[in-house]
Amino acid sequence: MSGSLKTEGIVLRSLRYGEADRILHLYTPDRGRVSAIAKGVRRAKSRFGGRLEPFFRLRLVLYQGRSDLFTVTSAETLAGHARLRDDGAALDGAARACDAVARLFDDHDAHGGVYHLLANQLALLDADAARATRANALAFRLKLLLAAGFAPQLAACASCGEGDHLSGFSGAAGGVVCSACEASAFAFGQDAHDFLVGALGRPLAEAPDAPGAALAQAERAILATLEHHAHLRLRPVV
Ligand SMILES: [Zn+2]
Repeated sequence: MSGSLKTEGIVLRSLRYGEADRILHLYTPDRGRVSAIAKGVRRAKSRFGGRLEPFFRLRLVLYQGRSDLFTVTSAETLAGHARLRDDGAALDGAARACDAVARLFDDHDAHGGVYHLLANQLALLDADAARATRANALAFRLKLLLAAGFAPQLAACASCGEGDHLSGFSGAAGGVVCSACEASAFAFGQDAHDFLVGALGRPLAEAPDAPGAALAQAERAILATLEHHAHLRLRPVV
């Protein structure tokens, strides 16, 4: 178990610990979420500077002793995302993206796609704070569901396979449902359906927009899916 791990990582959370240390929750491409202690990082002369803060994408060397907690031996900035910190909406979008990743995946539950998705989302918000919209946040969450293997079924009724009259959404059934199977479903309109299909099928940077009512239905569908599969409640996106 013990030894050094060279990896990229994104700082999801950074918690004060003791006199001068920090505990970091990191998301890495190959190990998923890991925790690491950075010693002396809160001292003025720390060699880590300010780079062990949330949203930093780092090249790291982590030492693993006998416990599950790694120790940060070195950290180089790959992307600091300084600009997104200057915009309230972008900062909030970044915080919610990191929070969703931290809560959806357990330690060592690795999904390379999730790492790249999160890196992409942070880069987008940093490049253009105007991207921090409700549609972007929902598209991110939907892609997170896909990466975790929980993407809702959208092409046909998730209960009976019917291809038409898809007027409801059911987290328990795992996607859209037809009018005959609607018992545990909520009403789900064409605009919301189109939004989910578009957001799943297109790159994050080209996520579609939709009217507010459709986004509200899309959000409810994402929450219902998460709750059903992961027994997880996330904060609303706005
Ligand atoms: Zn059906």
